[in-house]
Amino acid sequence: MPSFDYAAPTSLAEAVKLMGSSGTVRAFAGGTDLIDQLKTNRRNADLVIDLKRIPELQKLEMGSDGLHIGAARSCSDVHHDATVNRLYGGLADATGLVGSVQIQNRAAVGGNVCNAAPSGDTTPNLLTHEAVAVITGPSGTRKIELADFFVGPGQTVLQSGEILQELILPKPPESSASAYLRFIPRNEMDIAVAGVSSFIHVDPATKTVRKARIALASVAPTPVRARGAESVLEGKVITEALIASAGDAAVESATPITDVRGSAEYRRELVRVLTRRTLSICLERIGISL
Ligand SMILES: Cc1cc2nc3c(=O)[nH]c(=O)nc-3n(C[C@H](O)[C@H](O)[C@H](O)COP(=O)(O)OP(=O)(O)OC[C@H]3O[C@@H](n4cnc5c(N)ncnc54)[C@H](O)[C@@H]3O)c2cc1C
Repeated sequence: MPSFDYAAPTSLAEAVKLMGSSGTVRAFAGGTDLIDQLKTNRRNADLVIDLKRIPELQKLEMGSDGLHIGAARSCSDVHHDATVNRLYGGLADATGLVGSVQIQNRAAVGGNVCNAAPSGDTTPNLLTHEAVAVITGPSGTRKIELADFFVGPGQTVLQSGEILQELILPKPPESSASAYLRFIPRNEMDIAVAGVSSFIHVDPATKTVRKARIALASVAPTPVRARGAESVLEGKVITEALIASAGDAAVESATPITDVRGSAEYRRELVRVLTRRTLSICLERIGISL
């Protein structure tokens, strides 16, 4: 592996200062993507900044504006967190699918987001929970909708010297739930051929869908919302037929490619099936039977 300098700041201010150093500087959370990219010369670095020792980037707590997940907090911690399991079920699903237990212990949710792979498992659920990205850099701190964070495969809106500080997920209302499923040809340690996260908020008395959010992985250059499917659901009484229609509509938001992992047609079919299944899991989690 090419040599590079390494720094492990213990404050956000120090990290931001180091990010402004000359040469190619890269943030490092778990390193489960970055180390391989450096080893195989897909990325270069003169200086790598380890973010794991910065308290703000290790947050995992509910605030008045929602759940704060520090960008260096591990997938394992998020996967096992009681609040995540109670209120953000799809995020517990997704963080438990990344790689293996060993990978989850190192890999951060923020690293998954910043790596910006279309197949990243945590991003669809973060999108369905309407996560806000808090970005800190030399010009201060800014907040953007996570939906506006991804530019293309491996590309984000982060400017030179900026780091993702944390993600904020608004507290979901009562009678809502999310779920994430992906398809891989083997049981673990593989990249999603397609992944779907669904979130629904349902009126328990009338079974009317008050809000629906659906997002897809591995079927477009970036993670993508299935807005057509959301419109199919919102304001309607939830039925098996409506869930099937939402699955069909979700396919319209997918623009997949054919590659070694699956054909475009196969991926579209997976989106249809996984959308239906994740919606059904959401209903089970809310406690609504059809
Ligand atoms: C064996 C194996 C299996 C895997 N399986 C899966 C899988 O099933 N699903 C999946 O989605 N991924 C998988 N991955 C990919 C990887 O583990 C995940 O993407 C992981 O979440 C990356 O997190 P990290 O903390 O290790 O990121 P890092 O490798 O530390 O960083 C990833 C990228 O983001 C940048 N970055 C990190 N944090 C910040 C920040 N706060 N601000 C700005 N930039 C930042 C880095 O510079 C780098 O470019 C796998 C990887 C391996 C090696």
